[in-house]
Amino acid sequence: MTRRSDAGTAAGAALPFGATIGILGGGQLGRMSAQAAAQLGYRTHVYTPEAESPAGEVASAVTVAGFEDFAALAGFVAAVDVVTFEFENIVPAVLDELDRLGALCRPATMALRITQDRILEKRFLGAMGIPVAPWGLATGVDIPYPAVLKTSRLGYDGRGQARVENQAEAAAALRQLAPHPLVWEAFMPFTLEISAVAARGVDGAVAVYDIVENLHRQHILAESRVPARIAEATRHAAEAHVRRVLEGLEFVGVLALEMFVMPDGAIIANEVAPRPHNSGHWAMDACQVSQFDQHVRAVAGLPVLAPRRHADVVMDNLVGPEGEARWAAAVADPDCVPHWYGKRGVRAGRKLGHVNRLWPLGTLARK
Ligand code: AMP
Repeated sequence: MTRRSDAGTAAGAALPFGATIGILGGGQLGRMSAQAAAQLGYRTHVYTPEAESPAGEVASAVTVAGFEDFAALAGFVAAVDVVTFEFENIVPAVLDELDRLGALCRPATMALRITQDRILEKRFLGAMGIPVAPWGLATGVDIPYPAVLKTSRLGYDGRGQARVENQAEAAAALRQLAPHPLVWEAFMPFTLEISAVAARGVDGAVAVYDIVENLHRQHILAESRVPARIAEATRHAAEAHVRRVLEGLEFVGVLALEMFVMPDGAIIANEVAPRPHNSGHWAMDACQVSQFDQHVRAVAGLPVLAPRRHADVVMDNLVGPEGEARWAAAVADPDCVPHWYGKRGVRAGRKLGHVNRLWPLGTLARK
């Protein structure tokens, strides 16, 4: 790898067939990205600490090493043409090392630095004019209630957060949640959770998917539904917000913006996932271009495409033993497209696969 950054990259300078996309992380998002890359004519090299990983199983090459094994990281960077990420919690020291090695990262490491830290992320969203819940640094219990206390770093699927109603609960959460610093957020009595999944290419072109309605169970995404049951004005605002996030971060690749819809239709941004996102899986079977195709296109310097949705869809996550038990019915259902991630071991709360249930376009609203 010789190029150091996207500064000055000629638009349209796509990676040639057979070039190698390096993926940091070995989970299902890396797996589905590697599958999309193969379809578009690229090799993938997955870097993961896991000996047997969902992405490693389908990649052209795998490095099994800890992220902070900088000799292994240097070997990986030398072996690939571009580096991308399938999860955002890559510690700053590793991002520093990627920059020091001159790795061409898409998205750039700066996008991860901002979005992996709730404090920087909220400041960024605020600077972009995107509303967020009232928040502050949680250094004590003198905060507005009800609130949600969250770690500023390393949280996912509801880990590292607690809803608190009063000072006693906040004091307990301050002791239990780690690492510090924590932030408090006002508890938002939203009517709906939605997300916007969108891509930005090396040339700056942006493609936004239809807005998604999301249902969580035990803090884990259970279902995504498209089209979302939201007003036109809410849809337009959500699309405008995600576009601003992509442009503000000078992002190359796919990201998701998670949002709350308030009773009056107003939108509050919750967080940015700087990578393909679980709430975008529906597009694999309901659009001509999946979020993984789109991510590979962006990372490889190919054009991102305006998504065309040809079906209504409900994406159903298969989580833990109950999810595994639903697999047989899903593979026998002609209206479903099942996807399995090849994880070793079934545990409660673990995302094992998903199913896209398709409906003729325009008919889901009646269900
Ligand atoms: P997060 O880890 O920030 O994505 O939060 C996980 C889930 O917790 C969200 O999808 C919401 O369902 C809920 N949640 C997080 N923050 C708030 C908030 N400020 N008010 C109400 N619910 C929240």
